[in-house]
Amino acid sequence: MQPITVIKIGGGEGIDLQPICEEVAQLVRAGQRIVLVHGGSHETNTLSERLGHPPRTIVSPSGHTSRRTDRQTLDTFTMVYCGRINKRIVEDLRVHGVDAIGLSGIDGGLWTGERKKAIRAIEDGRTVLIRDDLSGKVVAVDATLLTMLLESGRTPVLTPPAVTADGVAINVDADRAAAITASKLEAETLLLLSNVPGVLADPNDPDSLIADANSAGFDTVRAAAMGRMKNKVLAAEEAIAGSVRRVVIGSANGDNAIGRALTGRGTVFAAQQIVTTTEHATARAIVEGS
Ligand code: ADP
Repeated sequence: MQPITVIKIGGGEGIDLQPICEEVAQLVRAGQRIVLVHGGSHETNTLSERLGHPPRTIVSPSGHTSRRTDRQTLDTFTMVYCGRINKRIVEDLRVHGVDAIGLSGIDGGLWTGERKKAIRAIEDGRTVLIRDDLSGKVVAVDATLLTMLLESGRTPVLTPPAVTADGVAINVDADRAAAITASKLEAETLLLLSNVPGVLADPNDPDSLIADANSAGFDTVRAAAMGRMKNKVLAAEEAIAGSVRRVVIGSANGDNAIGRALTGRGTVFAAQQIVTTTEHATARAIVEGS
């Protein structure tokens, strides 16, 4: 049986999904088992503006950023993620002969999540508590359903939202959802592809790529990551602390983006090289504490 690869495609500006779908089709034709996860942040922002409900960002005291998700935002989010982007990817894959099936985390309770009860946020320099946000994180994945789909030759295309045990849809970070999915499927590789070449030591210098996260040290990688890159690094650490052998944070742009990431172009996190207990303990503390 071929090992499983989970590929998360970012939803940032300028990511061209067509060549990615073509490449996924080539890999599936070659017998690879692939689970695709996608985002949609840029299009959600654009549509939110057009619908007169502009996007807002929550900044936590530790500097993590997330989308402020009220009911109207969640509706817009669902239109973009589960609608246009998910179905466009499924269509593109089917055009290339892949038996793709699009599912959100709500469908069949695929991604069960916990809703954040209260979020500490920094607003105008003050810490405030937000209690009505419809966001959280994935805590369980229906790996049986995904395995069944893969065994029947389907390629799952997954997207947030997730759903709570009470049936409420919640916005979850797609990178971290991809990470727990890869862990629960015991995937060999997780690719987190976006519009940057990987984690840059200096976010403004595209030539400052940190190629080997293990050699650099996870603390260094974590410290370099700003804004939304923090979630990708956290996702990579969570996957490695789970059962994934290798995570690559790489570019979704240009020719052969998946092939390049698979050969290690980007920032590579490797499981077998985690030898220091401090690093492992830190990764675990982040996973358990967040
Ligand atoms: P997605 O495509 O998954 O939505 P994002 O575009 O939100 O991903 O996340 C990647 C972004 O993170 C980059 O566009 C970049 O602006 C930002 N970033 C912050 N710190 C770094 C860093 N150290 N290296 C690379 N990118 C970084």
